Amino acid sequence: MEDLNFNRIVSQQFDRAAQYLKVPPSLLAQIKVCNNICYFQFPVRFGGDHYEIFEGWRAEHSQHQKPCKGGVRYSEMVTADEIMALAALMTYKCAIVDVPFGGAKGAIRINPKKYSVEQLERITRRYTAELIKKQFIGPGIDVPAPDYGTGPREMAWIADTYQALHPGAIDALGCVTGKPVTQGGIRGRKEATGRGIYYGIKEACSSKEDMARLGLKTGLEGKKVIVQGLGNVGYYAAKFFQEAGAILIGLAEYEGAIHDERGLDLDKVFNHRRDTGSILNFPGATNIVATKQALELPCDILIPAALENQITGENAPRIQAKIVAEGANGPTTFDADQILIAKNVMIVPDLYLNAGGVTVSYFEWLKNLSHVRFGRMGKRFDEMSANRLLGAIEKTTGERITDEDRKNITKGADEVDLVNSGLEETMISAYVQIRDVKNSVKGCPDLRTAAFINAINKIAVAYMELGIFP
Ligand code: NAD
Repeated sequence: MEDLNFNRIVSQQFDRAAQYLKVPPSLLAQIKVCNNICYFQFPVRFGGDHYEIFEGWRAEHSQHQKPCKGGVRYSEMVTADEIMALAALMTYKCAIVDVPFGGAKGAIRINPKKYSVEQLERITRRYTAELIKKQFIGPGIDVPAPDYGTGPREMAWIADTYQALHPGAIDALGCVTGKPVTQGGIRGRKEATGRGIYYGIKEACSSKEDMARLGLKTGLEGKKVIVQGLGNVGYYAAKFFQEAGAILIGLAEYEGAIHDERGLDLDKVFNHRRDTGSILNFPGATNIVATKQALELPCDILIPAALENQITGENAPRIQAKIVAEGANGPTTFDADQILIAKNVMIVPDLYLNAGGVTVSYFEWLKNLSHVRFGRMGKRFDEMSANRLLGAIEKTTGERITDEDRKNITKGADEVDLVNSGLEETMISAYVQIRDVKNSVKGCPDLRTAAFINAINKIAVAYMELGIFP
């Protein structure tokens, strides 16, 4: 029987990579353990004498960099092990993209669809109050963000509760990221994880050598893509792939999946689901009632972007994708990994590929601490300098630059331009590092192991430089 415990799977992945490193075992043990985990139950009153008791968690995996950082998940299936696994992945993820945070994760055991917006607000605010009491939140301590089942709305409630209980704390908005832009958020955060997946896979598909090994051409154009989960991560990933010329041939949600080799229009599917309550019966597409079967269809790129344990030892032999782009955390089990590697499938791993969210969360945190929007100080100055330079060129050459060229050349960067460019730079340089490790470490079997090697190495160096370990 396959072990599907997420925490043990992450631990096995860690151990596989650690074999390639000369890090002392005691230091490896310190890097691997989850430093703090807080479990609590709290009551929420829903009018009259109607109370409900909820279970909440916050795990802080590592404080080698501070604050800790990681999403808050609302799910009925959540367990302490799952939260510790996700917190550990956050530590490695931050190291891979050089974001100076330790890893954390939080959760409430809840099906948010069963509660009204008002009830969800009360639950979220009460959960935040618990985190404050236990010192598991704060701009310099631990900074939550959106994850499965939460989004900007919940982050705004968390920020507001934290601010209300910390009057006068000037950096209070930095206690949480993924907030709406009007509440101290940053432009580009909502799309960041999906956009990061797009940048990461675009980079992976740019290598002639790597694509030839998969029997594929370089580039994203014309590549057939299947996406599982049309939430924050899956929707935006699908959107950027479609805009880049990839063909969305399959989309899967929890109620079923649809398939059309000619390509599915993402926004039409999205509107169809909103209007009918289901992704199924989309005009022209074939229904797949057993939704997980969508993962087994032939395609170039499969993007699991829903939950963990979707590709297991059971269905991995039937996966026909050439590239598995892990949008979700932990979608591929340890056993499935071995099967896919043996089948020459390229797995671009979660701990690298979905790091766009935490990267832009880092930018949001910096914005909150600096109390100024990115681009505000330099934009106009840059535009004037570029205009002066064009004027000098026109004068010297006697040639006039067209209005359109002038507009394009002189445009100063807005916040969203800087965020997207910082994200692209981060995703590309992290991919180059991981690919280099894979190609230079003898016997390294795949990009996941390479990503772990890279992360563990960076964290080990941080500990050693602190003088804690020799
Ligand atoms: P979300 O709640 O916005 O969306 C998840 C979607 O998956 C929902 O539409 C849900 O209906 C669908 N889904 C659930 N079960 C399914 C199933 N069995 N088959 C198909 N679809 C199913 O969550 P999200 O924020 O997009 O997170 C998705 C994954 O990405 C999680 O693993 C999360 O940890 C990871 N992640 C999220 C972020 C982020 O910024 N939100 C960042 C990094 C990683």
